[in-house]
Amino acid sequence: MERVLKLEGVGFRYDRLWALRGVDLEVCPGELVGILGPNGSGKSTLLKVADGICIPQKGKVLLGGRPLSGRGRRDVARQVAMVAQENHFRFSFSVMEVVLMGRFAHLGRFHFERPGDVRVAWEALEATRSSELASRSIHELSGGEKQRVLIARALAQEPRVVLLDEPTSFLDLRFKKEIFELVSSLARHKALGVVVVSHDIDLSANYCDRILLLREGRVFAEGPPADVITPGNVEAVYECPVVVDSNPATGAPRVSVL
Ligand code: ADP
Ligand code: MG
Repeated sequence: MERVLKLEGVGFRYDRLWALRGVDLEVCPGELVGILGPNGSGKSTLLKVADGICIPQKGKVLLGGRPLSGRGRRDVARQVAMVAQENHFRFSFSVMEVVLMGRFAHLGRFHFERPGDVRVAWEALEATRSSELASRSIHELSGGEKQRVLIARALAQEPRVVLLDEPTSFLDLRFKKEIFELVSSLARHKALGVVVVSHDIDLSANYCDRILLLREGRVFAEGPPADVITPGNVEAVYECPVVVDSNPATGAPRVSVL
């Protein structure tokens, strides 16, 4: 199977501290990969390396089989889109304007959007069930609506890989589920490689095809949720005693804190 994203032996250091050490990751089209790990374990750094924001000092990143290093920002942005953790808009942009920002990598020489760009933006809004928000201000949306719009902006980039950094953090249960449903259906139906960082272990275990568990910048465990979400792994990584059983409705691993 073709890999849309591949990290090989990636090491990344901010000043002295190595935030990632020897990290390997492969993502295929149609696959939803969850990244779990405690605060400071390197999850956001891993996404930034995959998006070309942080350039690793060791190892390499391949996008669509070609090395990321040395490629221009627009070239990279046609392959990979990031839904970052912090998204503050200083101006009261409309939702449509925000989604059109995702088109920057595709705009023509004079950087004006063309009818095709507006069509792609509408499709992205439809895919995230946000069309009715198009003329609203980004400032007046609820947390769940805003996440959907930010995912629409990423889709408007027409990438092959979407990276999401804690997209469910400030959402209530129903909206957390909605975001996981959405990203897993986008992965499947649009054949995107999707990588989602989350602290929601149970939801990640339920929706992700594979889980990567990070500890102190290293991959502590990797594989199908049932193999990774074990009491031994979760206790070692989160340093907290837990019981793991299975969700009676879905059979996915379920973690309870003791
Ligand atoms: P996570 O997303 O898992 O919480 P991060 O990738 O943000 O972890 O951080 C990994 C490590 O790198 C942490 O020790 C953090 O303090 C450090 N770090 C993150 N960003 C920076 C930065 N801009 N400058 C220096 N150190 C950083
Ligand atoms: Mg983070």
